[in-house]
Amino acid sequence: MADKCQRLEADVAIAGAGPGGCTLARELSRKGKKVVLIEQGTNSRSFFGNPLGIISRMEKAPHLFPTKKTVEGYSVILGHGVGGGTLLYAGSAFLPGVDYWREFGIEFEQEMIDEAARETWYHMPPDEFIGQGTRRIWQAANEIGIPFEKVARHIDFSKCVANCDLCVMGCVPDAKWTAMEYADEAVKNGATLLTSTRVTDILVENGVAGGVKARGKGGEYIVNARVTVCACGGVHTAGLLQRAGIKEAGSWFTGDPTTFSFGFIREGQGNAREHCMSVGWHDEEHGVVFCAMAAPAVSWHAQFFQDEPLKYLARMHRYGRVLSVFEKVSDEGMGTCHPDGRISKSFTERDWSAFRYARQTAEKILTKAGCDPGDLHHANFVLGHPSSTVKVGVLLDTNLETQVKNLYCCDTSVFPKAPGRPPALTVVVLAKRLARRLEVLV
Ligand SMILES: Cc1cc2nc3c(=O)[nH]c(=O)nc-3n(C[C@H](O)[C@H](O)[C@H](O)COP(=O)(O)OP(=O)(O)OC[C@H]3O[C@@H](n4cnc5c(N)ncnc54)[C@H](O)[C@@H]3O)c2cc1C
Repeated sequence: MADKCQRLEADVAIAGAGPGGCTLARELSRKGKKVVLIEQGTNSRSFFGNPLGIISRMEKAPHLFPTKKTVEGYSVILGHGVGGGTLLYAGSAFLPGVDYWREFGIEFEQEMIDEAARETWYHMPPDEFIGQGTRRIWQAANEIGIPFEKVARHIDFSKCVANCDLCVMGCVPDAKWTAMEYADEAVKNGATLLTSTRVTDILVENGVAGGVKARGKGGEYIVNARVTVCACGGVHTAGLLQRAGIKEAGSWFTGDPTTFSFGFIREGQGNAREHCMSVGWHDEEHGVVFCAMAAPAVSWHAQFFQDEPLKYLARMHRYGRVLSVFEKVSDEGMGTCHPDGRISKSFTERDWSAFRYARQTAEKILTKAGCDPGDLHHANFVLGHPSSTVKVGVLLDTNLETQVKNLYCCDTSVFPKAPGRPPALTVVVLAKRLARRLEVLV
């Protein structure tokens, strides 16, 4: 028997409910526009605060350590569910790089940045949220001339618990901002939210987009819309565009590769179970973000075991003594999202030189902070910011519209080069800017 096919009409159909899609849905629904927001994952706060909170909200692959991987074996972490990557993110808040975007013809209004920061709970951590191990790293960095300072976070500290390290597993007291906030508001404003429903195709006729086709728990859907927006994140937006005939989508791939460098102290408290990413440094000259942070226990054990199994077995009981810094390096975008879903990612000479610099800098900090210099470790790279697959200036104009009329993108795929900083707030600002354009078009 054929699946039932439901037909919906909308001003704007949005594929993907990460920060890009949810912000857009909220802004447009506030203006009375008819919005259909479609998300392949669920809309749920279940398992918040425990490792299942990560595992259940991550796109998985069928192997023992189930993160999605590139052909070369680097993990690519993709959020899955209403909220997208903000379900898994650590909540560090970096303002958009105004000069970065200006270079590609996009001007952000300061008022819009301020509004986005306020609404996403942008706050500096109060002193009581800086743990002992974190202070030790901060002080060591400053003593060797590395200007670590407090880093802002998408956190309402009046609801947060000092020394809690569970941000990435889902925040039980809802102190961490996620894009679910905007999705909830959009639904209250009358937007239709379809969950567990995957957009399979963009409807295109004579070079004009007219909505999407989707399939999910409610069967098959045809959503006819005056404007269609892909907000499926860096990887899946590229796939949808390829299927819509934009073959060059996915010809590049950046991921801001991240590595954790860590060592062990003999006495005192490490920073492993402390509030994370509260101090750090954005080294714009070398394109590296450093922050004091240890991977959450479940990821630390899994990653260390995969990277160095024998050394791991001898040190697995020492998580409480870990001092750890992460380094996020802005890479040059050599990579491909293939139409069959595979991702290839390679690094250039410049990327490798930036990695060496980042790791050596972290080693200096950790050694100064008291770690044994003969027992320092670097985790394999994780690609946490899949981006730049549908670049502004190449496949998108400065309004984020593709060559297919009325088809827009609004997520990290649009970044013209590696974000080089945690990008969630920038995505929110891009979506607010796009909403302002669309609200007069539809
Ligand atoms: C572990 C981790 C930590 C991070 N920490 C930070 C941080 O501290 N600060 C920061 O600013 N950023 C951080 N980030 C990055 C940030 O979360 C992402 O950059 C951001 O969420 C990207 O937003 P997006 O709208 O581009 O897409 P995403 O958040 O990727 O959302 C895309 C959504 O679309 C859905 N989708 C995909 N395909 C389809 C389809 N075909 N049909 C329907 N739905 C679909 C997905 O399920 C997903 O929910 C982190 C990311 C990770 C993984």
